[in-house]
Amino acid sequence: MESIFKGLSRRDFLKYCASIAAMLGLSEIYIPQIAAALEEATKGKPPVIWMQGQSCAGCTISFINSREPTPPELVLDILSVRFHPNVMAAAGDVALSAIETTMKKAKDKYVYIFEGALPTAEEGRFCEIGETSAVDWVKKVAKDAHAVIAVGTCASFGGIPGANQAVTGATGVEDVLGTPVVKIPGCPAHPDWVVGTVVKLLLFGKDAVLAGLDKYGRPKEFYGTLIHDNCPRRHWFEAGKFVEDFNDPEQANYCLLLKGCKGPFTYADCPKRKWNSGTNFCIDANAPCQGCTQPEFYAKFSPLYEKLPEIGIPGIAGYEVSADTVAKVLGIVTAAGIGLHLVGQIATGRLGKGGPPERGEE
Ligand code: SF4
Ligand code: SF4
Repeated sequence: MESIFKGLSRRDFLKYCASIAAMLGLSEIYIPQIAAALEEATKGKPPVIWMQGQSCAGCTISFINSREPTPPELVLDILSVRFHPNVMAAAGDVALSAIETTMKKAKDKYVYIFEGALPTAEEGRFCEIGETSAVDWVKKVAKDAHAVIAVGTCASFGGIPGANQAVTGATGVEDVLGTPVVKIPGCPAHPDWVVGTVVKLLLFGKDAVLAGLDKYGRPKEFYGTLIHDNCPRRHWFEAGKFVEDFNDPEQANYCLLLKGCKGPFTYADCPKRKWNSGTNFCIDANAPCQGCTQPEFYAKFSPLYEKLPEIGIPGIAGYEVSADTVAKVLGIVTAAGIGLHLVGQIATGRLGKGGPPERGEE
C-alpha cells in the first residue's frame, strides 16, 4: 500500500513515524497513532512561509542536509511550502506575491518560520526583503499566522548578528513581535529539532507545542538537558583533567572546560542525538561546546575558545565561581584525596543549593 507521501512506501512512512516517535521521546506504541494523525493532519497540506532576515542560510542548509528518509523531502510532501528564498524557483515580485496570496487565502492556517536576526536600527534598513524591511514583514506576516517558529539562534535571540547590536540593533523575532514565539535555537538548528517541532505542531496542535516550551521558548524534548550532564568527557571533568594543550596526545580526550567549553551552561540533546546523521557532535570532534543554543551566544560567550573567567558556575555552597576556581577546587581536593565524584557533583551544582546551572532552564 502506498503512503500518502509522494515517493515514499508505506514501510518507509512507518519507519519515519517511528523516528518521529523517537524524536519526540514517545514510545513505539504510538507509531500507528502518529501515522494516522500525520495522514489526517496533512490532508490539506498545511501552508508554510519560510522567510530569512540577517541570516547565513546555515539553518536552511542544515535542514536540507538531513538523514534518509530526508525530513525536508517529507516535510515538503507533508507541507505546502509557499515561500522559501533558497528553494523556490520564483524570484522578485512573483515570489513575494506568494506571501501575500498565502496570507490572504490561508489566514490563521499557515505556519510562519523565520530564520535570521532582525535589525531594528535605522527603521530596519539593514535588511530588506523586496522593498520592505524584514522587521515590517515579520510584524505583518506573523499577525495572521497559525504559529510562528523562530529557527536558529539569530531568529531566536539575535545570535551572531546580535553581537553587533550597537550598530544594527539585531535581535530575535520575539523581541520585535512582543509576543512569545516557538524557538529552535542552534547555530545552525539541528534538522531533527525543526522537523520534530513542526510535526508535533501537526500532530498535537499549537497548545501542546506551547505547553512544552522551556523558559526561553525552546521545546523541552530537545533542549531539556544540559550538554554537560550527558558529555562523554564528564568523567575527566570530575577527575579534574582538563585539556590545556591541544598538541599533547595525553590530554586528547580530557575535559574542554578550560578551552572555553560552554557545556555546563548549555541545554540541548547534541551528545545523544548527535549531528551529521548521528555521526558526532562538537565535543566528539575535540571542539568545546560553544553554547550556540543559549541566549548568551554569541556576544556573551565570546571569545569562544577561551575559558570563561567571568561566567560563573553556580553550585559551590550557592556561590558563583569561575572556571578557574572549579579547576583549582578540583585540583586541591584531588590532592587531598577526597572523592572526585563528590567534588564533581558539588562543582556542577548537583549538591549545591541551586541544583544544576540555571543558565538554561529549570
Ligand atoms: S543561527 Fe547560525 S546557522 Fe542559523 S542563520 Fe544564524 S548564523 Fe546562520
Ligand atoms: S565542561 Fe564541556 S567537555 Fe567538560 S564535561 Fe562539561 S560539557 Fe564535557
